[in-house]
This record gives sequence, C-alpha cells and structure tokens, in this order.
Amino acid sequence: MRNEFCGQVTEKYLDQKVEVCGWVGNRRDHGGVIFIDLRDHTGLVQVVVEPDNEAAFKIADGARYEYCLRVTGTVRNRPAGQNNDKLATGQIEVVVDDYHVLNPSKALPFMLDENPGENIRLQYRYLDLRRDNMQHNMRLRSKLTHALRSHLHGNDFLDIETPILTKATPEGARDFLVPSRMNQGQFYAMPQSPQLFKQLLMMSGMDRYYQIARCFRDEDLRADRQPEFTQLDIEMAFVEQEDVLNMAETLIRDTFKTVMDVELASPFPRMTYAEAMRRYGSDKPDLRIDLELVDVADAVKDSEFKVFSAPANDPKGRVAVLKVPQGGANFTRKQIDEYEPYARRFGARGLAWIKVNDKAAGKDGLQSPIVKFLSDDALAGILSSTAAEDGDLLFFGAGKYNEVTQFMGALRLKVGQDIGRVKDEWAPLWVVDFPMFEYNDDEDRWDALHHPFTAPTGSVEELQANPGEALSKGYDMVLNGVELGGGSIRIHDQKMQSAVLELLGISEQQAEDKFGFLLEALQYGCPPHGGIAFGVDRMATLMCDEESIREVIAFPKTSSGHCPLTQAPSNIDAEQLAEAHIQVIEPEDEDE
Ligand code: ASP
Repeated sequence: MRNEFCGQVTEKYLDQKVEVCGWVGNRRDHGGVIFIDLRDHTGLVQVVVEPDNEAAFKIADGARYEYCLRVTGTVRNRPAGQNNDKLATGQIEVVVDDYHVLNPSKALPFMLDENPGENIRLQYRYLDLRRDNMQHNMRLRSKLTHALRSHLHGNDFLDIETPILTKATPEGARDFLVPSRMNQGQFYAMPQSPQLFKQLLMMSGMDRYYQIARCFRDEDLRADRQPEFTQLDIEMAFVEQEDVLNMAETLIRDTFKTVMDVELASPFPRMTYAEAMRRYGSDKPDLRIDLELVDVADAVKDSEFKVFSAPANDPKGRVAVLKVPQGGANFTRKQIDEYEPYARRFGARGLAWIKVNDKAAGKDGLQSPIVKFLSDDALAGILSSTAAEDGDLLFFGAGKYNEVTQFMGALRLKVGQDIGRVKDEWAPLWVVDFPMFEYNDDEDRWDALHHPFTAPTGSVEELQANPGEALSKGYDMVLNGVELGGGSIRIHDQKMQSAVLELLGISEQQAEDKFGFLLEALQYGCPPHGGIAFGVDRMATLMCDEESIREVIAFPKTSSGHCPLTQAPSNIDAEQLAEAHIQVIEPEDEDE
C-alpha cells in the first residue's frame, strides 16, 4: 500500500515516485493549488495537488481534517523560499499523480492541537493517541520495555508468566475479585503483584525470573494511581541484598543509557530510611533539591515556649527547621502565610517562621511573631544549627516525629519548586534499612512496611522481643523523588515466616488458609532469594517528562476508576449474573 513513510520522504527521493499513506492535517488552497500536510507516525510531508490533474483535484478539494489517504506522486524541490528547515521533509513536496481517500472522517470532537479535558481525551483515546506527544510517549514506552527485556534476557533471566486468576497476594490494597462460574460462591483474586509466584519459582530452581506483569489493586484512588498498572517484576535465587542492588542498578543504568542516552551515577548513593526521613522528611527524597531539614530540639529544649520545648523533650517528638535561602526573607507576609494551609494538608497544626534580616543585630534583627517567646540563647542556637544568614527565612515544624517529618518533607518539596531549586538532572538513590513494621494504631497491631514476606535483619527471637526496632532487608530505588522500584530479601525459613505472620496479627488458621501453600513450599529446601519490582508506568512517565502516568498508558482509567471510552465498569445482564452466581445489592437511594 505504501513504499515510504510520510516523515521520511526526503531529498533522496527527488524526481522519484513515492506512495505514502496517512491523515490530513493542515490543508491550504493557494490560487487553485491544494496543499495538504499528510501525517503518519514518522512525521508529515507536503502533498501538492495541481488543477491540471483533474481527477485528483476534484477529490482533494473535498479532503477534510483527519481524512485517511493514500497518495502516489513525484518528489520535487519546494519552490525557492518555501523550505521549512524544522521538518525532515521540509525541502521537498510530493506532486500528486494518484489520490485515494481510504476513509473519510467525521468532524473530530476536538482539534489534535487542543486539550479538550481528560474525559473527552479518554473517550476518544484513539484520536488522542494520534497526537505527536502521545505517539512519542507510546514509542518511548515500547523502547523502554524492550530495553528492560533485552538486558534481563542477556543476563540469563527467564521471562515466566504467572496467573491472573489467583489467590490474594497482600501488598496492602484490596483485591479485585472474579466470581468462579464453575465453583459457585467462590472467587479468584487478581494479583496485587506476582510476589508469591515469583518466590515459588525460586523454590522451583528457575534461578532468575522476570516478568512485565500487570498488577491489580483496588485502592481508594489516590493521586495518579491506576487500578491496574505494569510492573517489571524480578526475583533471583542464592542472593544477598548486595547482589540484588548491583543487578538492579546495572539494569537501570543500562536502560537509561539505551533509551535516553543518559549516564546515571555509578554507584547510586545509598541512604538509610532513618536518614532520609531526618534530612528530607521523605522515604523517597528528591535529591535534585538541595534543601534539608535541620533538627533544633537541642536549642529549644529549655525554652519556655511550650510549642517547641514539649516536642523537643519528647523522645517521640521533633522540632525541625527548613531554611529558605536566597532571599527567603524577602517573601511577603502573604507568601509566607500561604505555606501554612499547604503544610496543614500534610498534617501540620501551624507553621512558625523567622525572617533573618540582620543577624548581627541579635533579636532585633529577627522578624517573627514567635521571637518574643524565645530566649537569646535559643535563637542563637537555632541560627547556628541552621547556619542561617541574613536574607534567609526559617520555617519551623514542631510536634510528633512522624507528623513533623511528613509535613516538613512536603514543605521542602514545595518551597524547593517555588524558589526554582530543582536541579535539571537525574538524581537516583537507594533507600535501605527500612523498619520491618509500623504500628497500626487503629487496629492495634503491627503492619508490614514492605510486605509480609520481607526478611528482617535479625533472628526470630530478636524480632519477637522488639518488633518496633527491627529493621528489614527491604530497599527502594528512588529517582527524582519518585519511588521507581522496591524489593527485599525474602524470608526463606518457615519458622521466621510464621513468626512474622503472627506479629502481623494473622492467626495460624488464617495463615494456613491464605498462604498454606507458601508455608509448605518453604519446607522443601527453599533457597535464599530476593528481588525487586519496578513501576514501568512511573519509569516511562519520568522518561517522557510527564506529570501523570495516564500520559504513558494507552488506555488508562480516570481517577475514579472509570473508562470513558468503553464505559467500564458497567452493569451486567441478569443472565450473566445468574451464571456467575452473583446477586447484586442495589445501591441505597441516597435520598432515603
Ligand atoms: N512485590 C513487591 C511489590 O509489588 C515487589 C517486591 O518485593 O519484589 O511492591
């Protein structure tokens, strides 16, 4: 049907015939000559229909936006002065011999260079994907998955598929359930990840596994989550943490080089979870921003200002400062005040601040509603711990350690962006030494910080004696403040696995029902093993420099889990419901 792509008809075809297919973009009528920009996935070429080609001219006259065409013509130089140096095909044009409308098009619901809003974009996703930007994103994503596969294949990893209709795998979300027609009243769960299967594959002697796996998590939709997403899932047998980190780092460095021609740091910096929380207020610090939180509890411990001294003296408290340099003190009162509601969104109760106008002038050189409550010593201590200079602004967070860390971390990102302090670079790192558990106050039990199959660093006895202090062999790879991947060395000892499940409040009977097969498998010579999974959507989003994963997924759902294109999820007719042995409880009428 065609012998060349639109974007590749260059001078090398001068005076030759070409056959190209594509869609009509811009169409101009210049003194009886019709010019059409014909576009395919490679770019566009200018097609000229002259009036003496009567047959072609007649049809071309009716050509409209996004008509699908096949054109045969002869390549010639554009007339002098009409070259377009921005286009690969900008020196030439194709003079039409034969012109076929392969398919006309209705008037599009939007022009391809305008943004009609997410619902319309997703309803007509097949048109939306025709845009250059979406074409670029989809192609980059394909290059990315190819590079990942090719690296892993070259390193003896086996690509093995695991079931989609399966049993629950806990990754901290709800399961999507599928009724079993053949087993009335029973349900499959869709995998939140292939975690248990990949561990079983290590027990099966597969040694190295990977899969570009679809995962399903029925979560209340948080910003930029999808109910189904793609993960590069990896597992290795006979490894320790260092082996997995090295493999994963090499994989990601190699992939960034292949796909983006970017050299990432070697090795990636490493940071413990505790350090990341203390310095950056996040377990996924964005190291492109060089602002850090500074603890000033020592300086304000003896202060009469209880807002500071109470948390400063509480082992679970924190008083931290974020210094805004480069003229932060020039912020207007209004600007400063706008950060408080922002911090409140992340749990702050208030946000104290001090402007450092003239350090040498002591208290008089500091401007703040709280200066009067703080002694000269306390202020001197704060200024020296934060190395504050004239012109700086200090924001204070005081309260429970976790709360302060969270909102000050969020504030750090916001301020960093607002004052243009995000360096234009790639900043990867490993975060290691995660706590094994976090306490769930609502349910009065421990939750696994990673997942229940992650190994702790110590013994069963140590873990049971002090679960709150236990560290895990879990690790996260972070890039530019985004958690790109996470994994762990797994528990390969059945006693340890049972102990962890018990600490998580899972009874022996529940453990048997849910993971009996894993606990059994662990008893047949299970090798030490570990792995990691990378978010492919997130990786592609970063590479495409997009804000949302929806820009790199061909057919994503809206943030309420809806597909405007197919109208999924939708009602099922009575017959299908009966076959699946499902009875629907009608949603209660909201007026009642
Ligand atoms: N299964 C984990 C996840 O989906 C990744 C891993 O531990 O390898 O986050």
